[in-house]
Amino acid sequence: MTSLLRRIEDDNMTETLVDNAEDNLETQALSNDHLFTADDSQESYDSSSSACRRRAASIEWPPRKQPRTVETVQVGCLNVISGKYESLDYDIPDSDLLLDEERNSGFKYETKKNITRWLVFMLIGVFTAGIGVFLDIAIDQLSEIKYETLKHYVDTCVKENCLYLPYLMWVAFNVFFVLISSLLVTYVEPVAAGSGIPQVKCYLNGVKIPRVVRIKTLFVKVIGVVSSVVGGLAVGKEGPMIHSGAVVAAGISQGKSTTFGRDFKIFHFFREDHEKRDFVSGGAAAGVAAAFGSPVGGVLFTLEEGTSFWNQSLTWRVFLSAMVSTFTLNSILSMYHGYPAQLWVAGLLSFGKFPDIPYSRFELFIYMGMGLVGGLFGALFNYINYHLTVFRMRYINNKLSMKVLEAALVAATTATVGFAMIYFLNDCRPLGQDPTKFPIQVFCGDGEYNALGALWFQTPETSVKSLFQDPPGSHKVTSLSLFFVLYFLLSIWTYGLSLSAGLFIPSLLTGAAWGRLTGMGLMWLFPNQSWIDLRKYALIGAAAQLGGVVRMTISLTVILIEATGNIAFGLPLMLTLICAKWMGDFFNEGIYDIHIMLAGVPLLSWDPPPLSHDIYASEIMSHPVVVLRTTERVARIVQILTAETHNGFPVVDPGHELQSEKISFGKLRGLILRHQLIVLLQNKIFNERMDLWDSKNLEVALKLFRNEYPRYPHIQDISLSSAEMRCTVDLRPFMNSSPYTVIHSMTLPRVFRIFRALGLRHLPVIDDTNQVVGMVTRKDLVRYRVHHHNGHMTREELKISEK
Ligand code: ATP
Repeated sequence: MTSLLRRIEDDNMTETLVDNAEDNLETQALSNDHLFTADDSQESYDSSSSACRRRAASIEWPPRKQPRTVETVQVGCLNVISGKYESLDYDIPDSDLLLDEERNSGFKYETKKNITRWLVFMLIGVFTAGIGVFLDIAIDQLSEIKYETLKHYVDTCVKENCLYLPYLMWVAFNVFFVLISSLLVTYVEPVAAGSGIPQVKCYLNGVKIPRVVRIKTLFVKVIGVVSSVVGGLAVGKEGPMIHSGAVVAAGISQGKSTTFGRDFKIFHFFREDHEKRDFVSGGAAAGVAAAFGSPVGGVLFTLEEGTSFWNQSLTWRVFLSAMVSTFTLNSILSMYHGYPAQLWVAGLLSFGKFPDIPYSRFELFIYMGMGLVGGLFGALFNYINYHLTVFRMRYINNKLSMKVLEAALVAATTATVGFAMIYFLNDCRPLGQDPTKFPIQVFCGDGEYNALGALWFQTPETSVKSLFQDPPGSHKVTSLSLFFVLYFLLSIWTYGLSLSAGLFIPSLLTGAAWGRLTGMGLMWLFPNQSWIDLRKYALIGAAAQLGGVVRMTISLTVILIEATGNIAFGLPLMLTLICAKWMGDFFNEGIYDIHIMLAGVPLLSWDPPPLSHDIYASEIMSHPVVVLRTTERVARIVQILTAETHNGFPVVDPGHELQSEKISFGKLRGLILRHQLIVLLQNKIFNERMDLWDSKNLEVALKLFRNEYPRYPHIQDISLSSAEMRCTVDLRPFMNSSPYTVIHSMTLPRVFRIFRALGLRHLPVIDDTNQVVGMVTRKDLVRYRVHHHNGHMTREELKISEK
């Protein structure tokens, strides 16, 4: 506040300086035209001797304005970044307002904030587990009603020759539930589609995905997942748990709900993008922990798949949230299943008991081979699903009713495939061999049940457990092979439908099927060998398939170790997953990345594109830059905000008459964001009205920004009188007065690393006299990509679409 007032007092002085500075700046601007020409390069870069620097010095000036945007984008094109995605502000700004708050509040305030932070992470764990419990019980109860009814009709109709009746009922059940999910997602909240993992990944990377962490999205997601799973689709509830955890985290940590219009007036200090991002990391980890009973896997998942920023204390907090989530879920579900005194149900997904199964060293080669096969299947899955998604984007997605119809068609087909397999393949097993809940006899003899019926008359999660745990001889090779092929195709078709559903379980199920088949093949090749245990092979197959599709390694290894409770099997799982990733990566990207690319999301990869040291900041930056002066006219701010779509503006020295309202030259003094300008305009914090904004009111200014977060008004919503338009605003107290900058001759890899590591949104480019010469944002960096084609690597420059 002190500095704020000081600056306002200084304002008059500034006005006088403006006139004097004007002449100097004009002279400088003229000389800037020659600043980077080849002739001057020796003078400007005496200290540097490298060839690269000399090349940087001899670059064209002013920079060539490259045609970077395209107006029309071919749907399903992987070479265009969508201009509609904005970034989040993960950088903590150094504004006077914030600094004054920190100085005035002292350590007590910081301690309070820290304790609250830990508490919120705990709450995130509890609430995420609560959602997991709801999903589990709802799916359990509804599936029981569905399969009990179907079993009753199948058993009766086999005798009375009316099997078409249970078939039609099965189709009706599936279509009914799937329609609920699809209608909700299509018409109420499309961002709740799928597992939500790609969306959470983008959010943690720093991309603003509209409505991704809203309560409405959570509601649609939860109801949608229950309906999709009960609707019998090849889907699971585990992936959506990660998204649900993220929404819970974003909701609790803000102490308000914009959807319900309620502000609980708590946690206002967490109303910033970087704080929210940390909580969302905790929520995602809590989701994994609840889904798989895997707290460490949850922490590693957020580390591997998501968050772009990590530190030691965040690890602890995320781990706490994951642990609390597992514990809460375990306690409640154990009670629900009748074991109140014991912690019996670790996660939503149960693989059954995996006691220490020994394996021999030579088996590691078999596992690695299976990993390679999993990678191949995964790449095939991704390849077909990519083409299917492009087809959907071109021909289905433009009509909402078509999306719903497709979902209903998949639901009916899934029931038909299941019924046809049960009807035509008479795979009979004696009753009592495995604990299936709804055994159906169909055409089997007395005391027998149909093994395929057992696989289809239960949720996919339970089928995964069956394929892991069923004793040898429970399945025929032909029926299991057919099940694998059909389920594989169904899961490809299902992923990407307009409904909420996860991909983990169908991948685990297809993998467990071919893994079990591998084990059965080995048993046939090497009879009576004790080392062949079908459980091992089913598990390795499941891991390989899932790894081949999603390309996760460390987190998936740990998730599977924790879910099976078998630490000794860690090495085989790790080798399998690494091989699956290598093999899959040889052909294409992981499924989440493919969908992210198809949506044109500007996701920053971990590393800069290889071999890009010959690209300089001056080539990637935008030029000329739209800048504001430290003391700016309201009319000009309004004009810029209306005419430009940019979200950040460098603030330069006053006194320089801006040519054509767009100018790049001017000494950099700070950086201000669009939303800050809007709040200033909305609350009329103008120099001429400072009598209204006495010191007390200015303290309120910070609250004004936080209250509006995260949905700020548009410039069109601000109404200003013509007298107000003539006012001026002092931007200095509000701007980030020491933004990160880069020099124009910095190479792309360095610019990339600074931008990525610091979670930036805008990176002004300056020359050696601190004049703003360009602007780099996420989209400028994401444009450079290396393309693998026929064994060759080529660098490509992507275009940015206008919307
Ligand atoms: P974001 O969308 O990431 O929240 P933004 O809207 O400010 O930030 P982008 O949409 O990423 O910016 O930018 C699109 C293009 O506009 C980029 O090439 C970027 O360099 C350029 N750009 C951004 N800000 C300015 C500015 N103040 N002046 C000139 N060009 C800019």
